[in-house]
Amino acid sequence: MVSDLKFVCRDETSKSMEELVSDLKSISPDFPIDSSFFPSQITECPRRIIYRVRGTTYISKESIFKCVKKESFKNKWISLLEKSKSIKVLHKDVIASDCNYNLYSKADCVINLKGDILAVKSIQVTKDEFNQVYKKGAMKKHVIEMVVYIWLLEVDSGLIIYESEEEDFYIFHIKPYKSIINSVIDKCTKLCDFKLKGQIPNRPYKLESKECEVCEYKSLCWKNKED
Ligand code: SF4
Repeated sequence: MVSDLKFVCRDETSKSMEELVSDLKSISPDFPIDSSFFPSQITECPRRIIYRVRGTTYISKESIFKCVKKESFKNKWISLLEKSKSIKVLHKDVIASDCNYNLYSKADCVINLKGDILAVKSIQVTKDEFNQVYKKGAMKKHVIEMVVYIWLLEVDSGLIIYESEEEDFYIFHIKPYKSIINSVIDKCTKLCDFKLKGQIPNRPYKLESKECEVCEYKSLCWKNKED
C-alpha cells in the first residue's frame, strides 16, 4: 500500500506522456491527416473532404483511441483468417492508391478463397448499425469503399465483415461495379480541381442537416454564412 501520496501525483512527466499519446502523428502515421482522398470518406460532403486535405485537421482524443482500437480489431480478423485451412492470406495492409485521382487507403488484407482473389475489410459497428445491416444489407459508404479497393487492387471481388459489439458478425460479398467506379472518378476529378486551385466547394447542405450536425468542420464552415 502506498503510504506517501506525494509519490502518486500528476506531474510534468505525466503531462508530457499525456501530450505524447495525444500526438496522433507519433502514434499512427496512417491516420487520415494527409492530403489524399480516402475511399471510406468519398461519399462525404465535398467541402468537408477539401477541408480535410487542406490540412484543416481536427483531432480529438476520441479519434486517437478509435484509431488504436480499429488497428487491433483489424489484426484480430486477419489472424482469424490466417488460422483457416481453406483461406490463404496473400497480403496484409494492402495499399490501394491512384495518383491521378488522389486516392489512398489500405485494405485489411487480400486473400485467396477457393481460387478467387478477394480484398477484405473488417468493420466494427454498434448494435443499432448491426441491426440495420441485418435488415438492409451492407452500408452504401462501405460498398463504395470496397468497390474502390476491388478496382485499385485489381482483385476479383471483396468481402466486408461487420462485427457488432456483441461479437456477432455478417459477411457481405461485393462485386466490381462500373457505375460506382465512374462516379468515384467523377467526384475525385472535381475534388482534385478544387484542391489544385485552392478553392472550397459550396455548401451542399443546410446548417441544420444531419451531414452538418456530425461534421467536425461545422463551426469553421458556418463561421461566415455569407461565404
Ligand atoms: S458543415 Fe456541412 S456543408 Fe460544411 S463541410 Fe461540413 S458537411 Fe459540408
